[in-house]
Amino acid sequence: NQDWQGKHVTVAGLGVSGIPAARVLNGLGAVVTVVNDGDDERSRAQAAELEAQGITVRLGDGATLPESTELIVTTPGWQPDKPLFAAAAEAGVPVWGDVELAWRLRGHDGREPAPWLAVTGTNGKTTTVRMLASILEAAGLRTAAVGNIGVSLLDAVLGDETYDVLAVELSSYQLHWAPSLRAHSAVVLNLAPDHLDWHGSMEAYVADKGRIYQGNRIACVYNAADKATEDLVRQADVEEGCRAIGFTLGTPGPSQLGVVDGILVDRAFVTNRQKQAQELAEVGDVNPPAPHNIANALAAAALARAFGVEPRAVRDGLRAFRPDAHRIEHVADVAEVAYIDDSKATNTHAAEASLAAYDPIVWIAGGLAKGATFDELVSGAAKRLRGVVLIGRDRALIREALTRHAPEVPVVDLDRTDTGAMSEAVREAARLARPGDTVLMAPACASMDMFANYNKRGEAFADAVRALADESA
Ligand code: ADP
Repeated sequence: NQDWQGKHVTVAGLGVSGIPAARVLNGLGAVVTVVNDGDDERSRAQAAELEAQGITVRLGDGATLPESTELIVTTPGWQPDKPLFAAAAEAGVPVWGDVELAWRLRGHDGREPAPWLAVTGTNGKTTTVRMLASILEAAGLRTAAVGNIGVSLLDAVLGDETYDVLAVELSSYQLHWAPSLRAHSAVVLNLAPDHLDWHGSMEAYVADKGRIYQGNRIACVYNAADKATEDLVRQADVEEGCRAIGFTLGTPGPSQLGVVDGILVDRAFVTNRQKQAQELAEVGDVNPPAPHNIANALAAAALARAFGVEPRAVRDGLRAFRPDAHRIEHVADVAEVAYIDDSKATNTHAAEASLAAYDPIVWIAGGLAKGATFDELVSGAAKRLRGVVLIGRDRALIREALTRHAPEVPVVDLDRTDTGAMSEAVREAARLARPGDTVLMAPACASMDMFANYNKRGEAFADAVRALADESA
């Protein structure tokens, strides 16, 4: 705690990571100032609460670096090109994200810090982290799924609970601001363009993801079907003896996990005595057993095996795992049409996975494109599309791609960005669908133009489907 007494720390941004960071730093004795761009009713209420604890808050000015700042702790959402960071660079002030802060605070209370098994990737992070935690639990370890859902990083590191190992989800934003993170083992599940507006370019995005491998001790796990992830492993500066371990949906090579005759097998972590592949689980143990999800299960298994978990616990953990809401969730069948909520498909790469799983499809899509292009997604799915209903701000981008690659497919372009649009979209989809079809809401876009988040978008879809079911009952 010595290090923090009287240290002038500026926290960039209120919100879900800024407020807890400000509180923790204040509790450690730092002199904390929070700067925030917004100055609305909500931020004023939050500011009042922090000020009551002795924290200074500056609303409506997130650009000026407070004098005497020695360290900035930023909310991961703050874009690196913000003026505050230019000012920090000029003044030689370091910038940490919430992950860096948590990493540096590990063990500061004298407890032995738990190692981190870290997961990033464009898609599948939350699912993989939760599968991993389920496997670690099945092995009798004290653990938690940390990150986007479940326990927050600061709570995991500073809270009363003691852990043997943590399954940690890390976003590209968080990795950008986490220079000293050193995981036990880590995986980049896949790499596809996403958040390019934030990072500035695909190169910058990939480089930030690659930071997860820096300093790994035991294993850098890569996706054998995604060469860019393997390249990141080769470029990483790791501890001596750290191994590159691949996962594949096909027959695994010597340092890989893979699938043989419907069995998930491990050829990487076998002792000389066992020599051959070690059977871990059956494909049917994975929930749901869709190809992209088997890949997630293999990645989780690889990290667990790197930590020394027995094959049996891998199987038990995968069997115990239940997927989260809004991730290819079956809502209902109405008039022999299945309605699937994949609201979590907030980018084209995720939507590609669910569009590949159904045929024929009435596709509900659109929202915030975040700089993405849709040609590849649309041309890949064109043959399976019965029809398309478009909603949201950037829907024209998808419509134009449909005109280029699927000119025959009927498109209903709802010129709406209000929350009520989802119910009209479901009705239009029902009109286009025939018995045996699937209506798939996998927007390939973020939700914030119409909804508070993807959960709300998924709930709006499910509500509309239930209303439809009630009417047709
Ligand atoms: P994240 O935490 O990375 O956003 P989730 O596990 O929440 O990932 O899944 C997000 C979306 O991506 C889901 O809609 C799912 O259908 C899709 N998805 C999950 N795993 C994969 C994968 N390995 N490859 C492609 N898409 C995936």
